[in-house]
Amino acid sequence: MLVHRYGFPDQFDDIDALSRKISEVLLSGDCILGKPVERFEAAFAAYVEAEHAVGLNSGTDALVLALHALGVGPGDEVVTVANTFHSTVLAIARVGATPVLVDCTDGDFMMDLDRVEAAITPRTKALIAVHMFGEVLDMDRITALVRSRGLKLVEDCAQAVGARWKGRTVGTFGEIGCFSFHPSKNLAAAGDAGAAVTGSAELAERLRVLRGLGQQTQNHHVELGYSSRMDSVQALVLDHKLPRLNAWNRRRRALADRYTATLAKNPAVRVPTAGPDHVFHMYQLLVPDRDATLAALRASGIDAVVRYPVPIARQPAFAAYAIDADAYPNADLLARNALCLPLRPDMSDEDVDLVVSRVLSVTG
Ligand SMILES: *Cc1c(COP(=O)(O)O)cnc(C)c1O
Repeated sequence: MLVHRYGFPDQFDDIDALSRKISEVLLSGDCILGKPVERFEAAFAAYVEAEHAVGLNSGTDALVLALHALGVGPGDEVVTVANTFHSTVLAIARVGATPVLVDCTDGDFMMDLDRVEAAITPRTKALIAVHMFGEVLDMDRITALVRSRGLKLVEDCAQAVGARWKGRTVGTFGEIGCFSFHPSKNLAAAGDAGAAVTGSAELAERLRVLRGLGQQTQNHHVELGYSSRMDSVQALVLDHKLPRLNAWNRRRRALADRYTATLAKNPAVRVPTAGPDHVFHMYQLLVPDRDATLAALRASGIDAVVRYPVPIARQPAFAAYAIDADAYPNADLLARNALCLPLRPDMSDEDVDLVVSRVLSVTG
């Protein structure tokens, strides 16, 4: 590929220092939780300005444990957005609750807040607000809504680590904020990892018990939990990278703005909206003949990708739920016409210009 989707070499400065710390962990056997995880949890909590951060196995587990810790279960409904990644909805189903989808808008492709109210029933227990693509939802409206309707709020920040709403970091607006450090995300571990953040000491303790097989103290299992602890090696990698995250997010934003400056002039493509604190996980645009455009870009060495070609409502995994596949036209529109262009902090301006010229040559 001429322009790659990920640039891992640039994510490590002073990799020798990191390697030494990893060697120490390997030799000490302090491989799960332990000191490195405690250190990263403290650093990450400080970064998002939350009281507590709990290191977990993945972003998916963060969502499952968050709902579980909030007492969401069978008989409850949880509202979320129809164009999210599988994990958000899987988590709802995993705890035995019923997912209720709301379409995204046809403007910013974020959850349509005008439709959320209508999706709330007496059984609705929680709302999962997903900051898709690194864009930020209107948290004034969402916090007012959950307060007035007595709902728990979980934020899925898997694509938006470091994004802010009016100065406040996403993940801190509801009861629990969930983060993924999958290698594809803006803050990437060297494998699976995730975290849940909360302002409540009680919820933090509950999440810690749940991640460790429901053990409150050694050999004392107070409830049925999960095996979802963060590994020390992942914590070391994340701790090493965290100080650079803001600079990376700023660079992502500058590259996205550069994409938009030229692509917006082409009436055939639709460029993404960009609120003031959009950190840009991916650069997603809509093109008329998506599959042909994708094939042409890939053939010319541009590592473009579709996120996500099959929307939630059309996934066989959710066939058992009363989800009308035809009720989410905007999620369908994205699945049909959206394309993600490479966006990495280590890309040069010339890389962007090259991708833009290829996009323009194939979209006409
Ligand atoms: C990546 C992602 C997740 C899941 O995170 P994992 O760490 O891969 O389990 C959840 N929600 C959204 C919106 C994501 O993009």
